[in-house]
Amino acid sequence: MDRVIIFDTTLRDGEQAAGGSLNIKEKLDIAKQLEKLGVDVIEAGFPISSPGDFEAVKLIVQEVRNPIICGLARANPKDIDRAWEAIKEAAHPRIHVFVSSSDIHLMHGMKKSREEILQLAGDMVARAKSYTDDIEFSPMDASRTELAYLYQILEVTIDAGATTVNIPDTVGYAIPDEFGRLIKGIFQNVPNIDKAVVSVHCHNDLGLAVANSLEAVKQGVRQVECTINGIGERAGNASLEEIVMTIKTRGDLFKLTTNIDTRQIYRTSRLVSELTGFSVQSNKAIVGANAFRHESGIHQDGVIKMPITFEIIDPKTIGIPASSLVLGKLSGRHALRERLAELGYSLNEEDFNRVFQAFKQLADKKKEVTDRDIESLVAEEQRTVSEVYHLDRLQVSCGDRGIPTASVVLISPDGQALADAALGTGPVDATFKAIDKIVGVPNVLAEFSIKSITEGIDAIGEVLVRIESDDITYTGRGADTDIIIASAKAYINALNRLLAARRGTR
Ligand code: MN
Repeated sequence: MDRVIIFDTTLRDGEQAAGGSLNIKEKLDIAKQLEKLGVDVIEAGFPISSPGDFEAVKLIVQEVRNPIICGLARANPKDIDRAWEAIKEAAHPRIHVFVSSSDIHLMHGMKKSREEILQLAGDMVARAKSYTDDIEFSPMDASRTELAYLYQILEVTIDAGATTVNIPDTVGYAIPDEFGRLIKGIFQNVPNIDKAVVSVHCHNDLGLAVANSLEAVKQGVRQVECTINGIGERAGNASLEEIVMTIKTRGDLFKLTTNIDTRQIYRTSRLVSELTGFSVQSNKAIVGANAFRHESGIHQDGVIKMPITFEIIDPKTIGIPASSLVLGKLSGRHALRERLAELGYSLNEEDFNRVFQAFKQLADKKKEVTDRDIESLVAEEQRTVSEVYHLDRLQVSCGDRGIPTASVVLISPDGQALADAALGTGPVDATFKAIDKIVGVPNVLAEFSIKSITEGIDAIGEVLVRIESDDITYTGRGADTDIIIASAKAYINALNRLLAARRGTR
């Protein structure tokens, strides 16, 4: 087999990251985009972990039919039954069973002996197998598991019906050549290893997740678990785009392929960043804002003469729009529609009209409307579709002699205009306090950040807000050329999500 199976766990491990909180509609949007991207397997969630996760997996199963949809389960009957319940309608279902295998985990976490775990792993894989053929098994903390025991647990679970065995470097502890030797040892010492696809799942605690995954591929691994933008627990997982583009760019060395349509990479990265609120660092490989920017004069001169001199990847390969055409005040519906299509959006007529209105308003304030501006407009319009409260008006006064004061008018769910005002330590504080007086939901502000999405003094400001209530985090975003209005929009967006979750629509 000369193809590497791409197993995406953005919706499971990625969503597990601190501060991540996607609602069901956002999970579905990401799953649909992953399908366009061409991933082979989507790990859609951990169905027993919450009713919300269960519902999201069930919905994805109905709407996303091409990839294998995988549900995660610990090695116990309840988890496995619940995972099957969520994915049983899938066109291609997979149950992923995991159990700890390292002595550190067995002693401190599971409080079970090696023999007990061995028995349990075999039994639970067999139980999953009674539901469906496609079963993946993972010995958690494999890279710190005693080798003889690791070989044994893999043999037992393959015998019980596992068709994929996944070797996780759960804590991101492995070093490439060492991890490669571990994989090599598995191929040499597990007698029935040819009956399963061998997979890896690497974490990035030492910044080595991609390197370890690729070393494993060199040793014969044919499934890699990864996430968009490398998001995930702690320092994150191996990044899908880096793995795929390394295999492609260094095809001379790897001689392998994937099913990924690389032209969807940029779009997928933007969508995941937008919906999770985890921004991509500028110098991130492949998808960072600076990944294809050349500053040095020598480099610029080289790239103009012949891109290959300093560019190992053509930006078009990952779907960065080729033209740098900017729209403006005189651009019409047709031009905007074309640009949206090039950026990968397909909006219905109603949504398009809303975006077009917003575009015209922005073009009046800003001379040049760039792709990033358009992405921001679409995101802003999508956020306001199912609002509980809507920002109608905001007026703020501030300065070092006055007391920051905000007055706010919100439109309530039943269409009433509700007004209130508050003082604060600054304009944002005063605005949030005035909103709180109207909405009246206690919460703690956990994160507030603001950034300019393009260059220039007339740029759109994008605000990200995370609030906590009952130990759950809700992310809100807002965009506007006025940063105080953007802040108010982001806060209301987070509150609306909190209220929607309370109504059970998370
Ligand atoms: Mn993980």
